[in-house]
Amino acid sequence: MSSGPEKVIRDEVRAMSAYFVPPAAGMVKLDAMENPYGLPEPLRREIAQALANAELNRYPDPAAPALVARLRSAMAVPRDCALLLGNGSDEIIHIMIEACARPGAVIMAPSPTFVMYSVYAKLCGVRYVPVPLSADFTLDADRFAAAMAEHRPAIVFIAYPNPPAGNLFPDADVERLIAAAPGLVVVDEAYQPFARRSFMDRLARFPNVVLLRTLLKLGLAGIRLGYLAGPPQWIREFDKARSPYNVNVLTQIVAEKALEHREVLDAQAGAICAERARLAERLRALPGVVPYASDANFVLARMPRALDVFEELKRQGVLVRCFPEHPLVKDCLRLTVGTPAENDRLLEALRTVLAEFV
Ligand SMILES: *Cc1c(COP(=O)(O)O)cnc(C)c1O
Repeated sequence: MSSGPEKVIRDEVRAMSAYFVPPAAGMVKLDAMENPYGLPEPLRREIAQALANAELNRYPDPAAPALVARLRSAMAVPRDCALLLGNGSDEIIHIMIEACARPGAVIMAPSPTFVMYSVYAKLCGVRYVPVPLSADFTLDADRFAAAMAEHRPAIVFIAYPNPPAGNLFPDADVERLIAAAPGLVVVDEAYQPFARRSFMDRLARFPNVVLLRTLLKLGLAGIRLGYLAGPPQWIREFDKARSPYNVNVLTQIVAEKALEHREVLDAQAGAICAERARLAERLRALPGVVPYASDANFVLARMPRALDVFEELKRQGVLVRCFPEHPLVKDCLRLTVGTPAENDRLLEALRTVLAEFV
């Protein structure tokens, strides 16, 4: 007699729930930090042409030399840093944790932050230690340093900017934590296209820092491409934990073409930043709404009866993100910055909903 999954699948995995993606057909979709703009027609045609010539019968080149060269120049990766590509930065997070998952290893990050650090820690069977942020989402560097001294984390994840508020922790604090960290520090710059600062130009100064980026938020969520830049001695080890053909032919071609026209993506990021400022200002004018300053492509806003507002917005065809599980953000909604028209829809819906509730 063979056993069912309850005897075979690990308890931690059976206790997990699958990542939930809410249905969004026909809705104003402001829940997932996507870029609302598509690519312009001439660039689409150029990409289609390149894809038509793709050698789909061959494995992708695992070193992806053309794409790596393009990324290096487009993103100003320091010459003495190595690069690793991933199927989204999620895969790279998984690879790093897997490679460090010694018995007793600890993964540490501020809380709240990007949820996948804890998901992959659980999946890899290592302990995840969240260190609470202050109530206004700022980093308590003393508390974090003390937690590092106590738990000796193999990897510390610092999202820079950090979701769900989208704030950049002060550089002096981050650099202090880097200096005190007993292991690796991953600076996750998923929102770099919308942020005022980056660690890229200082990366070579820190032997224990790697920098994680993704093309998702820049406008290419569909192709799943993440990259990790850092000292070659770290990248070499993570490369061994990567599946050899993890970045497929189509992704390589599209990313290369899109980066060749980096100015298109940069202009879209600029438009998103301008809308972010307008959205925040309009939110501040709504009764009881407090938006947090953001360096990302979303605005977190505290408001009365946030969970009810979330449901009512959804009923009106506007999908945003709520956080019923986290005490620090359960009274907040996270609003991805959309096109001006989408943001107007959102603001109008919010205005009517709040008028009923407040
Ligand atoms: C969105 C996000 C990611 C995930 O990026 P993918 O490339 O889609 O896997 C990673 N880190 C942070 C902080 C994010 O917000």
